[in-house]
Amino acid sequence: MTGQSLTQCLDKYYPKRRHCLLHRNHCPRHTRLIKDSDECTFLNNWLTDLLNNLFPRVCVLCDAPGHRHLDLCKECIADLPWLKDCCVICAVPLPLNQRNLCGQCLVKEPSFSRCISAFEYRYPVDRLIIKFKFSQQLIIGKVLAYLAAGIIQQQTDENDLPDLLIPVPIHPKRLRQRGFNQALEIADVISEFLAIPVDYQSCSRLINTATQKSLPAKQRHSNLKGVFSVNRSIANQSIAIIDDVMTTGATAEALSRCMVKAGARKVQVWTIARTPDPLIS
Ligand SMILES: [Zn+2]
Ligand SMILES: [Zn+2]
Repeated sequence: MTGQSLTQCLDKYYPKRRHCLLHRNHCPRHTRLIKDSDECTFLNNWLTDLLNNLFPRVCVLCDAPGHRHLDLCKECIADLPWLKDCCVICAVPLPLNQRNLCGQCLVKEPSFSRCISAFEYRYPVDRLIIKFKFSQQLIIGKVLAYLAAGIIQQQTDENDLPDLLIPVPIHPKRLRQRGFNQALEIADVISEFLAIPVDYQSCSRLINTATQKSLPAKQRHSNLKGVFSVNRSIANQSIAIIDDVMTTGATAEALSRCMVKAGARKVQVWTIARTPDPLIS
């Protein structure tokens, strides 16, 4: 990718995204080079400060002033249900002080190497994600994605960072109803934070599945057969699948299998939140 011209890179991965306030429409890899200049950093910081002063950040949970440039205050951030004790592969929350494999991964490991989730899917993160997805409050998705990006960075060795972020695709019909793909919104923030390009064109959802939550676990897996397709070559790429919540892991597993079949070298899953296993909690 480094050998590509900026235009090629833009066309392929980043047609409508922005990174640097001064150099809009640049892919993160290329913008990173520009952004590293002193002049650019200075002006970006100045513009960010100006915007923050004109439009001060307010906590989306308690209306107190936001912490730094975030739409959450320091106290609310500290009180969020950060995911600590969890399965080292699928990130399902485990009882206190346990950090090994969960029962499901012991029986059969998934096709992805690991999942990183920042939060347990419980109050207030569950409410915030519902507001983000169903009330079009994109700002909530952005702040949660920013916090998740920090956790991903902490937990990932630089050499282990993927080549591409692929948001879980939604069906065009669902996209028209909702107006946006929540996974792409999250991927954009993580992309800016870690300077990894987003590829939202290589994978598509062929079937508009029923809401997974209403289905029993076994049915969720069979309901996802043939749902995703990989349209372009991702051979030898290391990929992170991006989604808002990982529930049973059926969606991530179905997409990951498609990617492995299409030649992906390695697949990991990064989500904002992870639901507890109903049998454990
Ligand atoms: Zn607050
Ligand atoms: Zn597990």
